[in-house]
Amino acid sequence: VLAPTDSSDRWRATYVFDHHVSRLRFERPAGFYREGVWDVVTPGWSLERDGALQVLVASESAGARRVTVEFPVYTKTLQKEYEFFVAFSDDSVAVYTGHLSVFINDGSDDGEVVRALDVVPPDGANVVVRGVVGIGRTVVSDLPDDGTYLYIGGILPVETDAMVAILDPGAPSWLIDQLSTSVPTVMATYATGFGEALPTRPTVLFNFDTAATSGLSSGGGTLTGLIQMSASGDGWRTETPRTREQLLGLVAHEAAHLWNGQLHEYEDPADSWMHEGSADAFAGNALCAAGVIDKAGLAARRTRALNECAQGLIEGSLDTSADRGQFRNFYSCGEVIAAWSVAAQPDGTEEALFGLWRAVLGPPGHRYNRHAYFHALSTRGVEAVAIDALRQFIGMSHTDPSAALVALFKAIHVDLLRPQRPAPGDRPPLAVLVMRHLMSTSCQGRMSFSVDGPRLRTSAIQACAPFRTALSVATIEDYGLRDGDRAFDAAHEMCAARQPVRLGLEGGGEVAVPCLVPLATRPDVLGYPEG
Ligand SMILES: [Zn+2]
Repeated sequence: VLAPTDSSDRWRATYVFDHHVSRLRFERPAGFYREGVWDVVTPGWSLERDGALQVLVASESAGARRVTVEFPVYTKTLQKEYEFFVAFSDDSVAVYTGHLSVFINDGSDDGEVVRALDVVPPDGANVVVRGVVGIGRTVVSDLPDDGTYLYIGGILPVETDAMVAILDPGAPSWLIDQLSTSVPTVMATYATGFGEALPTRPTVLFNFDTAATSGLSSGGGTLTGLIQMSASGDGWRTETPRTREQLLGLVAHEAAHLWNGQLHEYEDPADSWMHEGSADAFAGNALCAAGVIDKAGLAARRTRALNECAQGLIEGSLDTSADRGQFRNFYSCGEVIAAWSVAAQPDGTEEALFGLWRAVLGPPGHRYNRHAYFHALSTRGVEAVAIDALRQFIGMSHTDPSAALVALFKAIHVDLLRPQRPAPGDRPPLAVLVMRHLMSTSCQGRMSFSVDGPRLRTSAIQACAPFRTALSVATIEDYGLRDGDRAFDAAHEMCAARQPVRLGLEGGGEVAVPCLVPLATRPDVLGYPEG
C-alpha cells in the first residue's frame, strides 16, 4: 500500500503479507541510498546490508504480517539507477516501483516477490500507470520486471489512442503544444515502420525544472511502455529551430527505444551501437519528416556524428568503448553505422532503415544481437564484402579513424567529404579538448571549467600552479573558441615540442601553461554528403 503521509512531501509504503515474514530483500540495492533516506516505522525492523544486497530485517524471528516504511520525495540522481521520484512543478510526483519491489527472503517462501501495489493518492488525484488513468485509489498488478514509473497527482493527462502523457504545466506552453502533437505522430510512424503495434498504450512523463538556470538541458529514458523525459534551463523559454530540433530529437530517440529496447531486447551492452545509433538515426528522419530540419540539416547531423565517432575511436575500438567509459561512441558511431546501413541497401531510401530493423528484431520475445544485424543486412541485399568491412570496422582499433570511416563508406561506393575545416559549430569543442588536456595534466587529473559564451571559465584549484586563481580564457595560442580547430592544432604543435601553451585572458594578459604530455592527434575532418 502506497499513500502520502500527513506531511506534504513524505510517503508511506506498507508491505502486507498473508503470513508472517522476517526478512525482505530489495530487488534493487541502488547503492544503499535507502539507508540515509528511508525510515523504518514498524518497531523491531531495520534496514541492513547483506553483501551487495539491501534487506529489511526483523529483530525477532517471529516477524510480522505488515511492515511500514516512510520516505521523502527523493529526486537525487542515483548511480546507474532510475531515480526514485520524479517531481513535477505542481508538486505532483512519479515514483519508480522498482525501488519498492521486494522478495520474501526468510527461508519460508524464498523468492516470492511482491508485484501488486495498492495506491492511495491524495484526494481527487489521478494514478497513471501503463497507459491507464485511474482516479482515486488504484490497485496496480502485474508490474513489469524492470519496474515502471507511476504518476500520482492532479495534472490532467493528455490522452490519445497512441499515448497517455503527463506534461508538466510549469513548462513553456510551446513545449506542451509540441509534445501533445509530436508524440502521437512519432508513435504512429514507428508502429507502421516497425510493423508492430505496442501491446499497451505507452505512458509519457515530461517534467520541467522551473528553477531558473541558464542553458538548454534535456534527458530521457525508457522502461517497458514508458518514456520519461526531463528538461530544464532558460533556453527552453522560446521556440527556435534549435529548441524544436532538440525537443523532437529527444522524443523520437526515446520513442524508438520502446521498440528496439523494450519490446525487443538486445543481448549485449557492447552492441549498444545498434539501439542507440539507430534511435539517433530514426530521430534524424523524424525531424526531416516533420520539416524541422531539411536535407542539409540531416547531413549536418551525420557530419557531426562522423567526426565525433572518429574522435572517439582514437583510444580504441568501438567494441571496447564501454570498457573505456566512452558511451558516446555508441551514439555517434552507431548513427554513422545506421546511415551506412541504409546507403548500403539497393533501396537506399529512409524507409530502408525500418525495413532493416524489422529484419533485425524478428519475432516477439526474441533477443537480438549483432549477428542478427549482419544477417539482416544480407537479407536486405547488402554484399557480403561490405558486411565484412562493417564487422571489421566495429571490432578493430584504428590508428587513423577518419581513414577507416572513409574506407568503410568506400566499400559501399559512397565518397565521404574531406573538408579543410570542421563545420563552425564543431570548432569550439576542439578548444574545450585542449583545455581539458592542459588542466588535467597540470592538476593531476583534476579539472573544473565551463564554456561561457566566447570564453572558457576555469575554477580556482589551489594545488595547481597555473590554475590557482580562476581564469577567464578568451584565446588559446591567439585563437578564440570559434577557431577551436586552429587553437587545437597550434596547441598540438607546442605540446609536441614540450613548449608551454599560451592562454589569452579576457581583458588582457596571458598565462603560459606547461604542456609535458603530447595532445592526441586530431583526426582528419569528414563530411557526410547531402542527399
Ligand atoms: Zn537512447
